[in-house]
Amino acid sequence: MRIFDPHIHMTSRTTDDYRAMYDAGVRALVEPSFWLGQPRTSPASFFDYFDALLGWEPFRASQYGIAHHCTLALNPKEANDPRCTPVLEALPRYLAKDSVVAVGEIGYDSMTPAEDHALAAQLQLAADHGLPALVHTPHRDKLAGLHRTLDVVRESALAPELVLLDHLNETTVKDALDSGCWAGFSIYPDTKMDEDRMITVLRNHGTDRILVNSAADWGKSDPLKTRKVADTMLKAGFDEDDVDKVLWRNPVAFYGRSGRLQLGTTAPGSLHEGNSILRGGE
Ligand SMILES: [Zn+2]
Repeated sequence: MRIFDPHIHMTSRTTDDYRAMYDAGVRALVEPSFWLGQPRTSPASFFDYFDALLGWEPFRASQYGIAHHCTLALNPKEANDPRCTPVLEALPRYLAKDSVVAVGEIGYDSMTPAEDHALAAQLQLAADHGLPALVHTPHRDKLAGLHRTLDVVRESALAPELVLLDHLNETTVKDALDSGCWAGFSIYPDTKMDEDRMITVLRNHGTDRILVNSAADWGKSDPLKTRKVADTMLKAGFDEDDVDKVLWRNPVAFYGRSGRLQLGTTAPGSLHEGNSILRGGE
């Protein structure tokens, strides 16, 4: 089984996670830039973080046989912080980098006017750079948040087939798919979507344009949720081709629109050699 996790924050995860993900079948992932939990105090904090997503984290992933790509953006929460918004002016030079496969995560957190501005500006940046966009939908007031997001997407220069709407659930999946966008589901240990609810969504809506991710980060989360959904699909009567479509071909098709996915055959690098490089970097 081959698995592509289209949304996971590896900066917050350990090398044990990389090893367990490889053993579970994960061969590729996309790491969106996001909020650190601690507010950033200047745009320079973004630059160091973006550089880590472009350099250090792909190296770490490669030691465990996993292809690493990223999406870069001003995240929805920090779109409200005037100390952070100047990063928008610097984004174009980062979006030109080879391993950036989308602009993201962008979207709404509290649905403020500042978030309206950042979302519209970054959808335009995606269109300007020929990149797709990863759009986070709010965790509170989900359906209103989705509709407001879709209004901004419709007014943007970006075609819906270049937009992935993420963190969907049963209340938002139909309108998301009807819009022509791709539909992402984050599977969490004990809140929001779980494996069984995901199976029901797949039964009711099919497998076209649907992606599943772990969204694992520094909070309570599980980087093996993609594999757990795959196993639950097989137990529920979906076949291996369905699993491959949802867990591999759909994310490859979506992020492949960037023209930048590099999915050569990956094997774990020499862990011994990797560790000596890690020590050298300390
Ligand atoms: Zn995220």
